[in-house]
Amino acid sequence: MSTEAKKILIVEDEPSLIFTLQDTLENEGYNTFIAKEGGKAIEIVKKENPDLLILDLMLPGISGYDVCEKVRELNYTFPIIMLTARDQEIDKVTGLNIGADDYMTKPFGVKELLARIQARLRRSETYAKGKPVNEIDLDPVHINLKNATAEHPEKGEVDLTTREVELIRYLYANANSPVSRSDLLENVWRYEYSTNTRTVDVHVSKLRSKIEVNPDDPKYLVTLHGVGYMLKIS
Ligand code: CA
Repeated sequence: MSTEAKKILIVEDEPSLIFTLQDTLENEGYNTFIAKEGGKAIEIVKKENPDLLILDLMLPGISGYDVCEKVRELNYTFPIIMLTARDQEIDKVTGLNIGADDYMTKPFGVKELLARIQARLRRSETYAKGKPVNEIDLDPVHINLKNATAEHPEKGEVDLTTREVELIRYLYANANSPVSRSDLLENVWRYEYSTNTRTVDVHVSKLRSKIEVNPDDPKYLVTLHGVGYMLKIS
């Protein structure tokens, strides 16, 4: 896990709400950026590649819906939490259909928003920041995460399970850093309190047989004794 402050872009045109959100989030250690209209929001997204977007729907100029759609078109995968004053089911459905992850109706409690932000950020830590990684080259094995396959020199095309894809994504997002078994259980399996780390070992061993030429002497997915695992890439 990175210790660098997470970047949150607040797209909102209401000065008092901007102030409250910025103040709260900065106090929590986040690095905030403000856009008061949609065009500016897209600009900041491209420049800063934030970790999360708080997006008001009712904006001057480009609407929040259009910002959301545009961001997803550009293949950014960070979580988007939409804000709206209109308590209409149709908004929620439309918002989630065009790629928002969550939705809050004004007026809302800042603590509730903060809890949702933290939950979303935790979930998105399984992914590399920003643009999704679809292919990873572990020479001579080539992994295609989008198709959930690995091209193995001896075994040919091997199918990866959904869990294996998530496991690779998480290890890749933390490449060259040690990752503990409990960290994997929490972020790949989403078990908050499990101590059954054997599950991790079984999956890692299966995954190795698919992405390593010699699974008994792995070149990439290595064991760090007493620590956990690490994906070693150059
Ligand atoms: Ca507004």
